[in-house]
Amino acid sequence: MKSENCAAESRVYTILETQTLVKEFKGFVAVDGVSLRVRCGEIHALIGPNGAGKSTTFNLISGYMAPSSGSVLLRGQPISGLPPYQINRRGLSRSFQVTNVFANMSVWENLRCAVLWSSGQRYAIDSHITRAIRDLAPLFEHRLFLSATPHNGHPNSFATLLEILDPQRFTRGIDVEAVRLTGDHVDALVLENGEEVLCGKAVNAAGPAAAHVARMAGIELPVKAEKRSIFVFDCKDGPADMPLIIDPNGVYFRPEGKTFIAGAPATAGIDSTTLDVDYGLFDEIVWPTLANRVPAFEAIKLQGAWAGYYEMNLFDHNAIVGKAPNVENFYLANGFSGHGMQQSPAVGRGMAELLLVGSYEELDLSPLGYDRILANEPIVELNVI
Ligand SMILES: Cc1cc2nc3c(=O)[nH]c(=O)nc-3n(C[C@H](O)[C@H](O)[C@H](O)COP(=O)(O)OP(=O)(O)OC[C@H]3O[C@@H](n4cnc5c(N)ncnc54)[C@H](O)[C@@H]3O)c2cc1C
Repeated sequence: MKSENCAAESRVYTILETQTLVKEFKGFVAVDGVSLRVRCGEIHALIGPNGAGKSTTFNLISGYMAPSSGSVLLRGQPISGLPPYQINRRGLSRSFQVTNVFANMSVWENLRCAVLWSSGQRYAIDSHITRAIRDLAPLFEHRLFLSATPHNGHPNSFATLLEILDPQRFTRGIDVEAVRLTGDHVDALVLENGEEVLCGKAVNAAGPAAAHVARMAGIELPVKAEKRSIFVFDCKDGPADMPLIIDPNGVYFRPEGKTFIAGAPATAGIDSTTLDVDYGLFDEIVWPTLANRVPAFEAIKLQGAWAGYYEMNLFDHNAIVGKAPNVENFYLANGFSGHGMQQSPAVGRGMAELLLVGSYEELDLSPLGYDRILANEPIVELNVI
C-alpha cells in the first residue's frame, strides 16, 4: 500500500477497509465476516494458525478472488470484484510469500516485467521495442555502443531501456573519440577511455555532435548544434484546454501539465557555445507574443527555463538518414533539426530494416538520404521552431 501521502494530520484517514468479508468454497467458509480498518501510516499484521483464512483474506483484498459477500474499500472507494491489475493501478500492491511468476511468459519476459514495473514503466510500452531488439540481436556480433548524455534535455530512454533489457551488450556513456577505418570499412569505434568497440555496422546518432562524429569517418555533414531555450510558466487564469499554438513570428506555446511552456525560433546572434538560458528572449519576444495572443498571459509567473541543442541541418532542415557516402558500413541518423522526437519511431524502424536486410521495407526513407546533399536537391522544411 502506498502511504507517501500520509501526512501527520491525516493519520486518522482510513486507507483500506474490509466490511464483513465472506468467502465460501462450496459450503466451506474460509473467511467469515472479516471487518478491518487500516489507517494511513499504520502497519497491520494478520496472525492465525494454518487454515485461519489469512491468505484468502489477502486474496480478497488484492482482487485475486471475489468475495462471496462483503466489500473492500480503498480510500473509501469499493474495489471488491476488480481484477488485481486495476486494484494495483489504484495504488495497492501485494508482495507474495512465495515469489510468483507469470507462467505463460518466458523467464526473459518475467524479468523484464519486474524491471519495467519497478522503474515506473508499463509492460505494454516495450512490446514493440522487444520485438525490434529480438530482430536486431542476431545482427550485432559485437557489443552495441550507445551513448546517452542528454545534450538536448530529453533523457535517452530508448537507450536506457535497451540497457536494462540486456546490459551485457552495451557500452554506454563514454564518448567515441575516433573511428578506426580500413579503406572504406569501419573496423572499430575508439572510446575516450581507450577501449575499442569492434563493429560490423556503425550508426552515427550523435545528435548535435553528428558533424564531429561524421568527420572522424571522413564525412562532412551540414549539421550544427543550435541552442534553443524553453520557458515554463504558470498562469492562474490561463486557458484550461489549449492545443500547441505557433504564432506566425515562430513563438510557440502549449500546456504542460498544470503549467505552460513556450519557446522561440532562432534569433540573430544566438550564442550556442553554452547552454545558458536566453532570458532576454523571454522578456523581449516570447512574453509580448504570449500576451498578444492570450490576454490572460499578461499575468504569468515564470517558473523555470532550460536550454538544449537542436541538431540543425543547415542544408534543408530535414533529417539525413541512411547509408553514409564512401564508407560501406557507416550509417547516418542525423540532422533532425528539432523534430527528432516525433520522427524517431519511423527512423528507428527504417534504420533497423536497413541494417538487417539492406533496404527499407515498411516505409521508404530514401528521400532523406545523403544523396540529396550530393545532388544539391534540398527538401526544405520551412516550419522549424
Ligand atoms: C528545447 C528542445 C525542444 C525540442 N522539442 C521537440 C519536440 O517538441 N518534438 C520533437 O520531435 N523534437 C523536439 N526536439 C528535438 C529532439 O530532442 C531531437 O531532434 C532528438 O532528440 C534527436 O535525437 P537523436 O537521437 O538524433 O540525438 P540526441 O537525442 O541528441 O542523442 C545524441 C546522443 O549522442 C551522444 N553523443 C554525442 N557525441 C558523442 C560521441 N562523440 N560519442 C558518443 N556519443 C555521442 C549524446 O551523448 C547523445 O546521447 C527538441 C529539442 C530541443 C533542444
